[in-house]
Amino acid sequence: MNDVFDVMILGGGAAGLSAGIYSSRAKLSTLILNEGALGGQMVLTDEIANYPGVETTNGYKVANTMKKQAKDFGCKIKSNVSIAKYAFHGDVKEVELKDGRKFQAKSVILAPGGKSITLNIPGEGAFQGKGISYCATCDGDFFTDKEIIVVGGGNSALEEAVTLTNYASKVTIVHQFDHFQAFEHAVEEAKSNPKIDFIMKTELRQFMGNGKLQQVTMEHLSNGNVEEMDVDGVFIFIGYKPNTESLKGVISLNEKNEIITDSEMKTNIPGVFAAGDCIVKKYRQVTTAVADGTIAALSAVEYLKN
Ligand SMILES: Cc1cc2nc3c(=O)[nH]c(=O)nc-3n(C[C@H](O)[C@H](O)[C@H](O)COP(=O)(O)OP(=O)(O)OC[C@H]3O[C@@H](n4cnc5c(N)ncnc54)[C@H](O)[C@@H]3O)c2cc1C
Repeated sequence: MNDVFDVMILGGGAAGLSAGIYSSRAKLSTLILNEGALGGQMVLTDEIANYPGVETTNGYKVANTMKKQAKDFGCKIKSNVSIAKYAFHGDVKEVELKDGRKFQAKSVILAPGGKSITLNIPGEGAFQGKGISYCATCDGDFFTDKEIIVVGGGNSALEEAVTLTNYASKVTIVHQFDHFQAFEHAVEEAKSNPKIDFIMKTELRQFMGNGKLQQVTMEHLSNGNVEEMDVDGVFIFIGYKPNTESLKGVISLNEKNEIITDSEMKTNIPGVFAAGDCIVKKYRQVTTAVADGTIAALSAVEYLKN
């Protein structure tokens, strides 16, 4: 068993790293445990142009700078862990990893973020990584000079479609509605890109191929017509769900499995706070995750003082 930390942060994305910077700078012994690669969704983001005070940069750089800041203030970070059990009631909170290691702290900040939602149609599982992707940064290069489809109509879909034109010869955006749910500037940028075509009011129904993706079936919702299209790749950007599956029954969640907090990021359990894309809120951005992480850490500082 390790020492009892003042603050244990579960999640090392923008929210968790920000919380780590603030709590370790406040001289609280702080541990970040992160499932997966440190940085979370930021490392999937090619270009961050809307982080105030920082000129356009990529998410990987922002994540690495946050990591360095946290470590420089004394924060301990363990990545690629897998958490098996949570015990949050009582003054000392504990998590147990799947490998049996246990970590304890007087307060906890939950910052597990979220992940991509899948279409859940025939062939999707079979062709994941064989033509179907959810990450332009990871896989865009594999589709150099290829023709691809982007599914979705929000900011991620439109921004990533533009990014993918750096690789692909043609990008067709397939969207179920006749309008987009993205910021106007993202729509304009996609519409003015000569490599991007649009198929509106249409949904993909099936992925087909021989070992790798070769074709999709799509249904035009306005007339019910079904069409097959040859394609080299499909990128799916239709949103995400909070990574709170393992927290069901541990902490209060709403019907979308988002963690319920108050404005100070307090959850229903004293000493347990939550921050970032995992909580109930409308806007999910690096700035909002960073702000939540800051508030959660400062609330933890106050909780420990009392
Ligand atoms: C493609 C894309 C482009 C984007 N572009 C922008 C942009 O330009 N500007 C902008 O502001 N925002 C952008 N965003 C949104 C922004 O990246 C997120 O809102 C923000 O990074 C969320 O941070 P987070 O810390 O809450 O969660 P995440 O980034 O999801 O990090 C959570 C971390 O916790 C880990 N984890 C999960 N479960 C557990 C657990 N039980 N215990 C411990 N760790 C766990 C995860 O593996 C992950 O590493 C973009 C997102 C995507 C996907």
